[in-house]
Amino acid sequence: PLSIVWLRRDLRLHDNAALYYALKSGNPVLVVFVFDCLILDILEDRRDRRVEFIHTEIHKLHDELIKVGSTIVARYGRPIDVLKQLTEEYTVAEVFTNYDYEVYAKERDAVVGSMLEERGIGFHTSKDQTILDRDEVVSGSGSPYTVFTPYGNNWSSKLTGSSGEFYLKSYPTEKYFANFYKTNPDTSIPTLEEMNFQPVGESFPEPVVSAELLKAYQKMRDFPAQTGTSELGIHLRFGTISIRDLARQAQETSPTFLKELAWRDFYFQVLDHFPHVEKHSFRREYDNIQWRNNEAEFERWCAGETGYPLVDAGMRQLNTTGWMHNRVRMVTASFCIKHLLIDWRWGEAYFARKLRDYDLAANNGGWQWAAGSGTDAAPYFRVFNPALQAQKFDPKGEYIRKWVPEFNSLNYAHPIVEHSFARQRAIDTYKRALAK
Ligand code: FAD
Repeated sequence: PLSIVWLRRDLRLHDNAALYYALKSGNPVLVVFVFDCLILDILEDRRDRRVEFIHTEIHKLHDELIKVGSTIVARYGRPIDVLKQLTEEYTVAEVFTNYDYEVYAKERDAVVGSMLEERGIGFHTSKDQTILDRDEVVSGSGSPYTVFTPYGNNWSSKLTGSSGEFYLKSYPTEKYFANFYKTNPDTSIPTLEEMNFQPVGESFPEPVVSAELLKAYQKMRDFPAQTGTSELGIHLRFGTISIRDLARQAQETSPTFLKELAWRDFYFQVLDHFPHVEKHSFRREYDNIQWRNNEAEFERWCAGETGYPLVDAGMRQLNTTGWMHNRVRMVTASFCIKHLLIDWRWGEAYFARKLRDYDLAANNGGWQWAAGSGTDAAPYFRVFNPALQAQKFDPKGEYIRKWVPEFNSLNYAHPIVEHSFARQRAIDTYKRALAK
């Protein structure tokens, strides 16, 4: 019999928890990836950077595995069907995989797990995507944290001393590479075209972060005109970098960067403990807000034509590159929700479509933060002023000029709404909803 390791958002052989346990199971290990049609078929854009990224990474894994006499079995379909098929083609003893915190993924794993159980096949999940997960950082009474600061303090304390060494230790998969199942290297991988996608033809940043960047991170990270952040999001999303490796590096050089990884864990545990956030406000009363949801205004926001240069620069950066600087994500999200009174879920969905580092937990957390409806919300009457944000974080206007070259010319759009009017309208609307 053999063991299967089912890769999902952990596309690497190095320091991979599920792979490590599979390789140690005593059976030869077959590496499997499913291009999940239930996710892929509903994507609106048939040229999708994320799909192309995954596809490229699967080919890289295939090449790495050929070197150790094995290969990857990658198929397109419903995971339950593909795994069922594999249990019919091979004698499978156990399936190993890494835990995923999204609602859909949890349901999928429950269904696959019971199918395997019926066939007498063990199904094991491990923590790999996060450093600390749902029950590892909880309050004194054992309940999940809903505010970041105490969570972050507790999280940091666990990463010091010997407990830190324990949580950040690599899984030494390389020691067991002889245990891969020896397969025919000609195994085919579905092409993008077979899955109804077209290549975008883009290259991605390497999954590395320099010591210089980490050292300068605290000073540089808020200025969108600079390359002051790691741009590793897509690698963290698909696990082409190990979160433990990255945290160890940050621990030595940049407490501020490490804190961002704590935010990442924080939002995963929020989604895991409070799955209603996927569709609803974390604080239920915020679902009472009467959004204006003006479609024409939403279109202008999406296109970066609001007449507010920092907002427009951000949206154009997103539309062109699939990435937006964190400071500008906060400003554009706040503008969409508060200035235009558009339901945060509309904006969230637009980011989900476009961001190459899209991650449900962090995106949802970011949008609910901006809406004030989430865990760590600023009071609702605090409304970002996009002009002041631009003065503070893009003082020379470099970022704005790069993305909005017509800024300062007659061709530039008039402001879609006047700031102080919009601010007051947002405060009144929120007040009405929350008074109910
Ligand atoms: P760096 O600054 O180099 O940070 C390193 C890593 O830490 C990031 O790649 C990310 O994994 C993690 N991280 C940093 N900040 C946060 C944060 N506030 N919350 C959670 N994780 C964080 N992040 C996503 O990964 N996916 C998203 O879909 C996403 N959507 C967002 C939407 C909004 C409205 C806001 C305000 C923030 C969102 N973020 C999201 C968080 C943050 O903006 C991005 O992680 C960051 O800008 C990615 O760039 P980077 O890789 O250079 O980050």
